[in-house]
Amino acid sequence: MEEKQTTYRIGPIRPPSEANSLLLQITGGCTWNRCKFCSIYKHERFRVFSVDSIKRDIDVMAEYADMVTSYMNQDGTLNKKTALSRFEGMTQEEKNCYYLVYRWLAGGGENVFLQDGNSLAVKTERVLEVLRYLREKLPSIKRVTTYGRAETLAKISADEYTQLKKAGLDRIHSGFESGSDQVLQLIDKGVTAEQEILAGHNIKAGGIELSVYFMPGIGGKDLSTENALETARVVRAINPDFVRLRSAVIKEGTDLWQDYRGGRIRLCSENDKLTEVKLLIENSQGCTGYLASDHIINLLQNVEGRLDADSQNMLAKINEYFALPPLQQKLFQLARRCGMVSEPSDLLLLAKDQRLRLEQSIRSITEEVLWDEKMNEILMDYI
Ligand code: SF4
Repeated sequence: MEEKQTTYRIGPIRPPSEANSLLLQITGGCTWNRCKFCSIYKHERFRVFSVDSIKRDIDVMAEYADMVTSYMNQDGTLNKKTALSRFEGMTQEEKNCYYLVYRWLAGGGENVFLQDGNSLAVKTERVLEVLRYLREKLPSIKRVTTYGRAETLAKISADEYTQLKKAGLDRIHSGFESGSDQVLQLIDKGVTAEQEILAGHNIKAGGIELSVYFMPGIGGKDLSTENALETARVVRAINPDFVRLRSAVIKEGTDLWQDYRGGRIRLCSENDKLTEVKLLIENSQGCTGYLASDHIINLLQNVEGRLDADSQNMLAKINEYFALPPLQQKLFQLARRCGMVSEPSDLLLLAKDQRLRLEQSIRSITEEVLWDEKMNEILMDYI
């Protein structure tokens, strides 16, 4: 007799905005695996899972969802203590799967993220079948999202996106990183700005929300302005629903680190990256999407809002930082990276001895390039 399946696959990544989503892995790894800043899947080949095996995973999720909801209080809230008492006798893997479903339901049970790095590379009919089954088995779902590479997304027609939307796919996240062909080549993204624009148009024509990621600083100092302005051009051409900021860090162990050590790319400073954000906002006229700064890696995390209605407010926050004297700017950078402040006005809250210690560290680094290296080194721990 075949043993009953009690676990499901869980992949390694999801966007931060999907922190409360249920994770359904429909592929493994990434089809491209060559972006120079990325090492997530370096030791993994791209795999497509069979629709039957994905359906079995959904069945396990649905079974755990039934178990968890049987522990509802009379007022409809979850009884955490009783729900988690089911842990007893479970293997660690079963506990992980059960807990993910529990946490999802405790958060409303509304969103699902289809993993992994480039899931729409599989045939549209297969994704449609998975979406229909998922929606049927877990009817509380309100939103389903996934990741896709722009090069892959550009090959899917608007008509296919319409079908995907109808079957229940609501949002696509795509790491555009830049809208500059020069920068895209430099980081070996394997995609062009025109493919990004085509993908964006088709997705939006199909009625699916588009969330793109922009990396201020990823082109290095020499391509910094180009990175911002060309990205703004792509953003203007598509008007994505979300533009999410992921300030660049050149991480040890990546191919981009080798380029940096070999002198082929110069590090952007924190100020360079912020200037790119400023240029992006200033040059996104006519865009109505939301600029999200949903990652601690960004220097000013409070710079976010709608690209139309909130642009002046966002620019004012950036200008407030740039109005600080250079030493104060560095003080803010260091204090923020030490978790002491989150916005420039918080500097007033620093204790005298804290401030003195930070200022001493700043003065001990006399060259700008070494300061930028120091910031990059600290930020490596954030990703
Ligand atoms: S497409 Fe995404 S997951 Fe794949 S290598 Fe590039 S950044 Fe990494």
